[in-house]
Amino acid sequence: MSIQATRFDELALDHVARNFGGQAALTDLNLTIRSGEFIALLGPSGCGKSTALNCLAGLLPLTGGRILMDGRQIDGLPPEKRGFGMVFQNYALFPHLSVEKNIAFGLEMRNVPRTELKARVAEAIELVQLGPHAKKLPGQMSGGQQQRVAIARAVVLRPPLVLMDEPLSNLDAKLRLEMRTEIRRLHQSLGLTTIYVTHDQEEALSLADRLVVLRQGEVQQVGTPQDLHEQPVNWHVADFMGYRNLLDGVVERVSGTSVTVSVAGTTMTGSAKQPMAAGDKVKVGLRPEDFSIAEPGTPAAGSTALEATVEVVEYQGREFAVEVRTDGGQALHIRSPLAPAPGERITVSAPHQRVLVFPESLESPAP
Ligand code: ATP
Repeated sequence: MSIQATRFDELALDHVARNFGGQAALTDLNLTIRSGEFIALLGPSGCGKSTALNCLAGLLPLTGGRILMDGRQIDGLPPEKRGFGMVFQNYALFPHLSVEKNIAFGLEMRNVPRTELKARVAEAIELVQLGPHAKKLPGQMSGGQQQRVAIARAVVLRPPLVLMDEPLSNLDAKLRLEMRTEIRRLHQSLGLTTIYVTHDQEEALSLADRLVVLRQGEVQQVGTPQDLHEQPVNWHVADFMGYRNLLDGVVERVSGTSVTVSVAGTTMTGSAKQPMAAGDKVKVGLRPEDFSIAEPGTPAAGSTALEATVEVVEYQGREFAVEVRTDGGQALHIRSPLAPAPGERITVSAPHQRVLVFPESLESPAP
């Protein structure tokens, strides 16, 4: 296949920072990206994801730090000299050019010989399955098809790195899923190195080899989807990793890594990575799938059981999303294969090892 990415071994972001008028949008980003990796930058609106991507692309100068490709400093280079592919949320296609002309544009700018250009454009169109639409204008196509054109336009240049900024945000739910698979397939078959910005944890978890979770311009945690899902370093990361229940509590007692916390009139036991002491304010993190509906009475050893009343039951395909309120007044989101009835009294239980206890403060993320 001729559309294979230009290779590099390692791209390093070394203490990268960007301020806007004295306000830090990105602080001290350190990340080493290996060739062929798919990295997702994940975080809430305004956390600095796009700033990081634009710094990498060369669209924004750094205000601190360096970017090194195989040891060579590239942060002084203009975007065209870096040659990275860009895919944006709004497609950014030329509206007056046909699909094939949009895709050919970058190759023409680079004076690629006519025969080679034609072959590469045809291959890129094939790759994103737009053969029958080659002569159409962007305005004559659906959002998903336009995004395929934008992807083809980026990969036809064989870029060493493809930068994607929320590319699926404008698509409906079904198309998003299809395009997600498509992006992963292209990434694998072309050996692309990809940096992908999203605020959607499911998208990040399903696509990326490694995730970088940002908050207010600072990296909170870098790791594989499994690392972050199983062992989030703080409640902000947990929040992005599907810990829908983040309950305010106060530490009652500590025994090694096991911490008993008072939460809304009841106690829960979980484990903590950071040192804690009685009286500390904490957040207790629990994923809906970690609860089960238990038999009333004595809880199973090693688990916390809470008496609760069912409030809302929502069918979600294979199981039910259930909102309950504990007798202490705490709302909890749980998942259940069976549908309890609204108003029903139930006992919900969660094993201690699935209950994560985090310091309330996010000021110093754990290493
Ligand atoms: P979103 O998901 O909403 O796009 P983001 O995580 O990509 O958010 P950025 O766009 O990188 O966040 O913005 C990070 C911070 O920098 C925000 O506080 C934002 O207001 C600020 N910022 C971004 N671009 C500029 C700019 N050109 N001038 C001034 N401030 C800016």
